[in-house]
Amino acid sequence: MLNNANQIEWCNTRAEEYFQLKLNRDRSVQIDYLLRQPAFRAFVSSSDVETTLNLRLPRTGTDRLVSIQMIPFGHEQRLLLAQDITEREQLEITRRDFVANISHELRTPLTVIQGFLETFEDDPTDNPELLARGVELMSDQSRRMNRLITDLLALSRLETSSTAQEDIVDVSKLAHEVGAEARTLSNKKHQINIHAASDLKILGAEDEIRSALSNLVSNAVRYSPTGGTIGISWGLVHDEPVFSCQDQGVGIAAEHLNRLTERFYRVDKGRSRETGGTGLGLAIVKHVLNRHDAQLKISSQPGRGSEFSIHFSSKKIAPQKELAV
Ligand code: ADP
Repeated sequence: MLNNANQIEWCNTRAEEYFQLKLNRDRSVQIDYLLRQPAFRAFVSSSDVETTLNLRLPRTGTDRLVSIQMIPFGHEQRLLLAQDITEREQLEITRRDFVANISHELRTPLTVIQGFLETFEDDPTDNPELLARGVELMSDQSRRMNRLITDLLALSRLETSSTAQEDIVDVSKLAHEVGAEARTLSNKKHQINIHAASDLKILGAEDEIRSALSNLVSNAVRYSPTGGTIGISWGLVHDEPVFSCQDQGVGIAAEHLNRLTERFYRVDKGRSRETGGTGLGLAIVKHVLNRHDAQLKISSQPGRGSEFSIHFSSKKIAPQKELAV
C-alpha cells in the first residue's frame, strides 16, 4: 500500500520477499527510492491504471519475473500488486521451443519429398531406376513423419488423460513380447536374453507399460553395434519390482544423462535418425513412469554400454490369486 507520495504504508510478507523489503525498516520510504530500475520508476510515476509492468527481480538461483499493477483505492492511496509469473514465462518458452522443434522435425522429411516431386514434375523421367529410388526415399520420409505423429499423439494422450488405470499387468509376458519385437528389429545382429519372473505382476495400464518397455528395448538394439548382447530382466530387487534392459552399445557420456528424457533431446542426431528415432521415446517413458509412481534409472559408460531400469514401488505389486486348496 502506497500513499500519494509513493511511500510504503504497508506490505505483506510476500511483497517483502519479492522486493527485498523489511516493513519495519522501510515503512514511509518512497518505493522508487528502494527499487531503482528506470522502468519501474517510470511506471510508478505514471497514473495509468490499465497497464502492467513485467519486472525481473533478483533472487538466489534464477531471477523472479513479476507482473506489476497499480490500483487506486481509499484516499489517494494505491495498491501495488505483484504476481510471480516466472513459471508462466517458463511454460511459454517450453511451448515455443516445442513448436519450433516439431516444425523442424517435419520440415526435413517434407523437403526431401517435395524435392523429388518437383524433380519428377519438371522432368517426368522414363528412367525406372531413378523413379524407384525416389519413391523409396519418399516412402522412408513419410514413414518418419508418421512415426513422429504417432509418438506426439502418444505423448499428448499421456499428458492430458488423468491417472493411469490399475489393471493387473503381466510384465513378464510383456518382456517376452518386446523381446520378440527386438529380435525382429535386430535381424539376428544381436543376442537377446530374457530373464523374467512370471509370478510378479503389477497394477497399472498395460498399453502404457508395454510402450515404455518397448522404447527401452528398441533403443538398446538401435544403439548397439552388431554382435552385442542385450539383456532384458524383470524381477524383485530389494523388494521392488524392477524391469531392466542392458546393452553393450555406444553408451552415453555422463553430461547427457539428466537430459535424455527431454522431448527431442538426442546425443547423436545422425544415429537417431538413421535408425528411425523420433527423439520422443524416452519422453514417453518418463511420462508413463510418472503416472505409475515409478522411476527411471540410467547407468552408462561411453563405448561400453548402458543399463536403463524402471523401478516400480512395492505398493504396485498385484496381489497373488489365492490357490485353490
Ligand atoms: P531417439 O528416438 O532419438 O532414440 P529417445 O528419446 O528414445 O529418442 O532417446 C533419446 C536419446 O538418448 C537418443 O537419441 C540417444 O542419443 C540416447 N539413447 C537412448 N537409449 C540409448 C541406449 N540404449 N544407448 C545409447 N544411447 C541411448
